[in-house]
Amino acid sequence: MSSSRIPPRDAEVYATACQFCIVGCGYKVYKWPAGRDGGTAPGDNAFGVDLAEQQPADGVWVSPSMHNVITERDGNRYSVAIVADKECVVNAGLASVRGGSLASTLYTADGPTRSRLTTPLIREGDTHQVIGWTEAVALGARVIKACIDRWGPDSVGMKFFDHGGGGGGFENNWAIGRFFFDGVGTRTAAIHNRPAYNSEVHAAGDAGVAPLTNGYLDAELADTILIVGANPYEAQTNYFLNHMMRNLSGESVPLKRSSFGDADAEAGRMIIVDPRRTISVASAEIVGGAEQVLHLRLEPGTDIWLLNAIGRVIAERRWHDSTFIGAHCEVQTFEAYQRNSLMVDRPIADVLAEAVRITGVAEADIVKAAEWIAKPRKAGRRARALLHYEKGLIWGLKNYENIAAIVDLALLTGNVGRPGTGVSRLGGHQEAYVRPPYPGSRPALNVDEAVRRGDAKVFWIGGCNPVLTTLRAEAMEGALKERGKPVADALAATRGLDVDQRAEAVVEALKNGGTLVLVQDIYMTASANHAHLVLPAAQWGEMNLTSINGERRLRLHQRFMDPPGEAMADWRILATFARELRQLYLTEGDTALANRFRDFDWETDEAVFIDARHTFKGDGSDPMEGYAGVDYAMLRDLGTNGLQTPTRVIDGQVVGSVRMHEHGRFSTPSGKARFIPASPPWEGYAAKVAKQRERYRFWINNGRSNHLWQTMYHHRHLPFYNERSPLPYVEMHPEDASELGITAGDLIELANDMGNVQALAYPTDAVKRGHAFMVFGQPRGAAGDLISDHVDPATTIPYYKGVWADIRRVGRIPELIKTVSFLPQNVAG
Ligand code: SF4
Repeated sequence: MSSSRIPPRDAEVYATACQFCIVGCGYKVYKWPAGRDGGTAPGDNAFGVDLAEQQPADGVWVSPSMHNVITERDGNRYSVAIVADKECVVNAGLASVRGGSLASTLYTADGPTRSRLTTPLIREGDTHQVIGWTEAVALGARVIKACIDRWGPDSVGMKFFDHGGGGGGFENNWAIGRFFFDGVGTRTAAIHNRPAYNSEVHAAGDAGVAPLTNGYLDAELADTILIVGANPYEAQTNYFLNHMMRNLSGESVPLKRSSFGDADAEAGRMIIVDPRRTISVASAEIVGGAEQVLHLRLEPGTDIWLLNAIGRVIAERRWHDSTFIGAHCEVQTFEAYQRNSLMVDRPIADVLAEAVRITGVAEADIVKAAEWIAKPRKAGRRARALLHYEKGLIWGLKNYENIAAIVDLALLTGNVGRPGTGVSRLGGHQEAYVRPPYPGSRPALNVDEAVRRGDAKVFWIGGCNPVLTTLRAEAMEGALKERGKPVADALAATRGLDVDQRAEAVVEALKNGGTLVLVQDIYMTASANHAHLVLPAAQWGEMNLTSINGERRLRLHQRFMDPPGEAMADWRILATFARELRQLYLTEGDTALANRFRDFDWETDEAVFIDARHTFKGDGSDPMEGYAGVDYAMLRDLGTNGLQTPTRVIDGQVVGSVRMHEHGRFSTPSGKARFIPASPPWEGYAAKVAKQRERYRFWINNGRSNHLWQTMYHHRHLPFYNERSPLPYVEMHPEDASELGITAGDLIELANDMGNVQALAYPTDAVKRGHAFMVFGQPRGAAGDLISDHVDPATTIPYYKGVWADIRRVGRIPELIKTVSFLPQNVAG
């Protein structure tokens, strides 16, 4: 990090959105020649404000973490300041602890990010050596071709990001899909942390409901916001602060009055379903008052029962929206839902008693939740509820039915497609799911198993780090080590030989159980350590990319600097391999296979974007992300506000969509939404999980932390974040800690039948007794090492939250914790 600098009046200005979470806050990038700084007088700086005056907290200023000095490929040095944009409707100038240091993540050869990958590397034996792009592509393409020809397309496995923000974007995702699905034709494909190529919300899709239905504005208009299995203060910070909290504080009451003419408009309420008392719960209570917040601390894995019990109360009291259901839902599915999920054939007293027993939530709270969501307001108007969910539900027991249960609840109450309503995931990263269709069927093939079995002769990992984040992560790393060794040895033995001879030697190693591992990333990750070919990629700011945020707001994240060294945009890497493969097949006279790799001749980021736009029709087969009529010039003009997808061209004008399903149409053949009934009775935990639960003392919940983005791929290099979290932390109840002789900051070990991991103890009453919470994806201790390979058979989504382990004290390393705080975060006023 550098000391802060003032952008001069004539600084270049670029519009972008934050590279981190799904909220996609708007930022302005100021760039000017290093050493030619502006001044404090309003006429001397790019902000036009008097910086000699003390600026308010929400004013415009540049802190050291918001500034950096970069060097372009031509050797010229520039100052860059990245400042939250007050004009952006998403964040209105708010930054978060992550976005406030975007400038610190930029590549500098003499700063903390100097460990970025800058050249391709090849692994020969135990070491990585520099290799040129031409040789890397020639070798990789030859081995991939040999695998397709000998073992078929499924022998080429991949695990790639599917997201926007970061280095993703529509552009890179389109190229990845074109290469692996249109070109290679493999079904051995998986999405970043997961073992398969699947939606996390298949059930919403089957119901005809989009994953992201509402605009952020709706969080200001709702009477009640329901949040299931999410911690939005930490994970969707500025959506929570700038929209949800405006509702709870009553700031949005005038907006409600002007939008609906409600005489009874009042501050909103929030229901949070989470076993933990998170900082989101505490913050909501501070802002809205404890009486406006209902915290339901359910037992793990019991969400379906809770949501259906709330639904049963609503149906019993006739608060459901029969007009909406009659007009917009397939009625026969509603009947099945009432029978199976709401159990209308059983007395409500029985159903509620069982719900209380299974979920641990008091009956009065279940009834209160139903009232807040659906009880008619004064003058009989329907309540407006916004239903949100995320990993607690998605990664919970029975992914498919969990998602079905919350979507069903929204349909039951007509809470979708109207202002102040919606049923949406809160999301992690921004979205850019623009790809040709996956060639396999559902449930998708389990790639982790294919890698462990050796069915994947090539495993290409891009922009993700399965050694940390997949389930049974230790087994994944073991497979990469064991199957990678013969290939690394073959490459060492053929050093100096021509590329055809080296490729032949690698194929021989593959015949003997080896796997060629390629990793495409921006840093040397734990997974990249096992790669035979390491391919340096460009990141956010080093290419133009487009993403949508959690309300489908599409922006251009403008390029404002060169990638380091020889790093290239992901789409360009894939296109280079595709052209090589096409040439190899043409040389052999196999035009059919050669043609699968044609049309990778893009020259610019926008050419990929436009190519995807033409194929991605926006005709109902891709309802959420369709972006008809949009090009970069339009997005540049629209700046940090962009427009919300799907777009349509009406009378020559491109028109966005504030919310999905506004016209009452859903993405099913009938155009009507479908209820998806649960399968009662509650089956309990799957055998593998039940066994773990019996054997080990603590339930190990896991999730995100405000300070650490994903696997800390940037943050582990930045002193502020790294010192804040030198090891993962584990929240445990103070009485449990005391029983085990553990105090705050002790080094502890978590162990179960899957593996073990070390962490720092963080005693807090945020968790109940017998529960613990571990931050996910920390590179020095991966929760994935404890996660079993149980998946929902309907979707191949793992039960990442279903982990039980024992905890023991290892010792204490005072030096390690000097920069770590163990003060409670969830203290209400
Ligand atoms: S809330 Fe999310 S998008 Fe906004 S600044 Fe923070 S990390 Fe970036």
